[in-house]
Amino acid sequence: MSSTSAFDADVAVVGLGAWGSSALWRLAARGVDAIGIERFGIGHEMGSTHGATRLFRVACLEHPSLVPLAQRSRELWRELEGVSGTGLLDQVGAVMIGPKDGSVIAGTLEAASAHGLDAHEMSLAEIEERFPQFADVDPTHVGVWDPDAGVARPEDGVRAAVSAARSLGARVYADTRVLQVELVPGGVVLHSAATTWRVRQVVVTAGAWLSKLVPELPLQARRTPMLWFRPPAPDPAFDTPNLPAFIRELDDSMAIWGHGATLGHGVKIGMQDVGRNFTDCDPDSVDRAISWERDVAEVSGLVARTFPGLDPQPESVISCMTTNSPDQQFLIGRPGGDPRLLVGGGCSGHGFKHATGIGDALARMAVGEDPVSDMSFAHPDRTFTDRPSLLARR
Ligand SMILES: Cc1cc2nc3c(=O)[nH]c(=O)nc-3n(C[C@H](O)[C@H](O)[C@H](O)COP(=O)(O)OP(=O)(O)OC[C@H]3O[C@@H](n4cnc5c(N)ncnc54)[C@H](O)[C@@H]3O)c2cc1C
Repeated sequence: MSSTSAFDADVAVVGLGAWGSSALWRLAARGVDAIGIERFGIGHEMGSTHGATRLFRVACLEHPSLVPLAQRSRELWRELEGVSGTGLLDQVGAVMIGPKDGSVIAGTLEAASAHGLDAHEMSLAEIEERFPQFADVDPTHVGVWDPDAGVARPEDGVRAAVSAARSLGARVYADTRVLQVELVPGGVVLHSAATTWRVRQVVVTAGAWLSKLVPELPLQARRTPMLWFRPPAPDPAFDTPNLPAFIRELDDSMAIWGHGATLGHGVKIGMQDVGRNFTDCDPDSVDRAISWERDVAEVSGLVARTFPGLDPQPESVISCMTTNSPDQQFLIGRPGGDPRLLVGGGCSGHGFKHATGIGDALARMAVGEDPVSDMSFAHPDRTFTDRPSLLARR
């Protein structure tokens, strides 16, 4: 780098996946002199943000503070769609199904009622009439219809945010791995194999690799597959929006999530991480090969039982990674209050929908402003109470 200033930029964002690309866009939108550094290409398939789609929900059952964050994120997804000319969020609605007092139904209704959202309960008869694709629904289970929910597009979102950041003046270094984040008096030095950058502060949004750069964070990467299924013959009942987004809590400590066929892919179905069905991994040596026993057998059995209209043999399967914190909540803020360092990570499997809101919050924190919604629940220095999975919520 050559520069007449002591600094190569005011702020560097390390890791341009879901959260970092949005942080860079929001920094650039605020006129901040910012650089973004990404070890792979932009919109790659090596981290947590690939596989064409993610569920978007506003009535977030994981924490009450996530509702305003999702609302802010939706505004910014729409803004990014306008800037990029790309569709990023399809509001097709979502149906939740499960026991009335289970975390999926009760958590969604709680979030909706606390924030005056439109989500409303559905009886079993209504579920059966409106969504006959779901089979074997326990007679004691109920539904919630959430009209604000839908399906978001991860790779397109990352590319759109990076491109918006670039057009606002941010400099982007792709295929460049930061080897060390060195906090020095008055700033930060970032080291790659070929270059060093000196910046006033750094935002580290390295996903599954975050604790390799900021080792004191209590994070663990976990290998998580996602699968797509088709009916034996084309059947529009399995296309979105006829089959919208869904989360279905079953009666055996398991939940499945997904949405109908869209964007040229089949019906996406995955299992909720319930602490026993996926394995922790090192993101540098994660086994991306797919095995029937490890990745397909259990989901295929659940599909045969809950969606008999689908071929239980998946049309495709890929592996991805989540990055889990001990309480399954995000880590966003300044560890130890250090003015040189901001982190954004610990997605815990539910972070894509919030990417634009989190990027905006990180950009505001970088310039000393309060985020639009309260982010204290995600402070990296909080005391963690173990919560092994969403289904263990109550
Ligand atoms: C199977 C599955 C299903 C999911 N479903 C949903 C869902 O339905 N809804 C939802 O909201 N969320 C969902 N999620 C979670 C969501 O995908 C993640 O929360 C989100 O993608 C995390 O983004 P991130 O920016 O933290 O990580 P990433 O997007 O992986 O970004 C981290 C970036 O940092 C880069 N990086 C790492 N180390 C370095 C380095 N040393 N130097 C430079 N760059 C570096 C990486 O290459 C990467 O690009 C799901 C996740 C999985 C795995």
